[in-house]
Amino acid sequence: MEKSILLVEDEDSIRKFIRINLERNNYRVFEAENGELGLDIADKEKIDIAVLDVMLPGIDGFQVCKTLRDKYPNMGIIMLTAKSQDIDKIMGLEYGTDDYMTKPFNPTELVLRVKSLARRVDSSPEDSTNKLLASGPFEIDVYSRKFYKNRSEIVLTPTEYSIAKLFLEQQGRAFSRDEILNIVWGYDFVGDSKIVDVNIRRLRSKIENDPGEPYFIETVWGIGYRWKTDK
Ligand code: CA
Repeated sequence: MEKSILLVEDEDSIRKFIRINLERNNYRVFEAENGELGLDIADKEKIDIAVLDVMLPGIDGFQVCKTLRDKYPNMGIIMLTAKSQDIDKIMGLEYGTDDYMTKPFNPTELVLRVKSLARRVDSSPEDSTNKLLASGPFEIDVYSRKFYKNRSEIVLTPTEYSIAKLFLEQQGRAFSRDEILNIVWGYDFVGDSKIVDVNIRRLRSKIENDPGEPYFIETVWGIGYRWKTDK
């Protein structure tokens, strides 16, 4: 089924341009010229991925992101920004962005990122069988894409879920940040691997007993991260 994209961008020319490129790739696009309108659309339509400009009249892209993240934890979110100082804010824990792009960007690159995120939002074909991944107090039901700790569900974003699944599938293996980028984001990320760190930090804050002293997701100094195993 075609994926639905919510595109919130106040500049007409950029919005049309992105829309054309997404539609050419068989995405269904809902356009909004401001955040309030975007949130209305998200309440009415089943949106898979939101592409949000940061600088908007009225409520800004950060607020739209936060509201969407709280209401629709499974939605994929990509933020667009023209300012480098916004990136630190985008990387803030509270927003839970799956990806971001800096303006000006190549529309082909945005389409690639949307495609990659669409795979994280959607179950991949091998996920259509009943499969349970387990480690210590944790379980992932791959079929329903649910993550549990001590049998209680912990709601993860599409990107956090993909990272957790990768870890539970290959427990004890050290992954470099670049490997995680390539496997989870699915392309050679042009930018820095901070997006991996921020997603790991969010995941730790949700699953660790003490996120300040992470036990399950170990930091492998100079490399990346590893899921603790007793084996
Ligand atoms: Ca703008």
